[in-house]
Amino acid sequence: MKLTDYNYRELAALLADRGEPRFRAKQVNEWLLRGAKPMEMRNLPLPLREKLASLPYGGAEIAQTRVSQKDETEKYLFTLDGGNLVEGVFMRYRHGNTLCLSTQVGCRMNCAFCASGLDGCVRNLSSGEMLSMLLRVEQRHGESARGRNVRNIVLMGSGEPLDNYDEVLRFLHRVTGEDGLHISARNISLSTCGIVPKLMTLPDDAPHVTLSVSLHAPTDAQRNELMPINRVYPIAELMAAARHYAEKTGRRIIFEYALIGGFNDSKADADALAKLLRNLQAHVNLIPLNPVPERNLAGCTREHAKLFENWLAQSHISATVRREMGTDIEGACGQLRRKEESGKIERAEYMEIKI
Ligand code: SAH
Repeated sequence: MKLTDYNYRELAALLADRGEPRFRAKQVNEWLLRGAKPMEMRNLPLPLREKLASLPYGGAEIAQTRVSQKDETEKYLFTLDGGNLVEGVFMRYRHGNTLCLSTQVGCRMNCAFCASGLDGCVRNLSSGEMLSMLLRVEQRHGESARGRNVRNIVLMGSGEPLDNYDEVLRFLHRVTGEDGLHISARNISLSTCGIVPKLMTLPDDAPHVTLSVSLHAPTDAQRNELMPINRVYPIAELMAAARHYAEKTGRRIIFEYALIGGFNDSKADADALAKLLRNLQAHVNLIPLNPVPERNLAGCTREHAKLFENWLAQSHISATVRREMGTDIEGACGQLRRKEESGKIERAEYMEIKI
């Protein structure tokens, strides 16, 4: 474990072991939550700063920033220890600035439309790396008059959060906790392709974040083609887990649905989707597929997405077409990292499908 991975309780134990007075843990924790490095922790005595500096720090640094000319969306490439690169995206919405974070370097899930899974998963991110990405973005934007610049966090970057369950939980606890950043769980969304056993334990293990389920198809036959995970946890099991989450947390579930021209965007698809979501507190986020060249799947027009939204509305299913942001800066997950690392990515680990 590296310094940025320690939560307050663990820092207290670490420093107590080294004979430091109790209040030091609070000081170090506060510095770490501001993204400081040991030698920047000004109110600590020099020997303690030096001791902390001798530990591996971890965390993340912004290596590259691209700013969209269209909508001021910012896309970052972060470097991690070991030289790995991951992406993050900062979006300005009317309801507040939103930061999209990655949870893994690459992804094991290999969905048929996604750039992140093209080379498998290199490794999980640690809680401190995820936290550090958030803090670096806060630092970049400076303190705003009203406090934090990032109001909402979405775990929708590269990687499958529930495939890195323990570290994602640690991250969520530190972000929401009293000894952490105190950000409300309501302002955090976790997006998953549907690892059902983890989904079942999530409401007990984590603060009640907004759950987004990447559904993308209304039938197993279609979903099997798009998402290998569906052959392990088919739609009926996924829906039962989503229902369980909704009941335990009292929260509405968001379903993400990428519209793929000629594949899942017909009136019959809309009707099948509406049937699936009947009797569930649900909202559908429609996303015209952002075509990834290597994947060879078509998107759909905004007009067609609006039509699909109307079909759902006729069946009393709430849905909206997501605004596309940062299309001029490789906004879709995994695209920028691939561009930067092209030819350099070697290790690949795909999900093994056990039927
Ligand atoms: N592994 C998580 C989070 C990752 S991606 C998950 O599966 O939910 C966040 C969302 O973007 C998911 O809904 C994912 O399916 C979607 N997505 C990935 N590639 C896309 C693309 N090319 N166009 C549109 N949506 C895409």
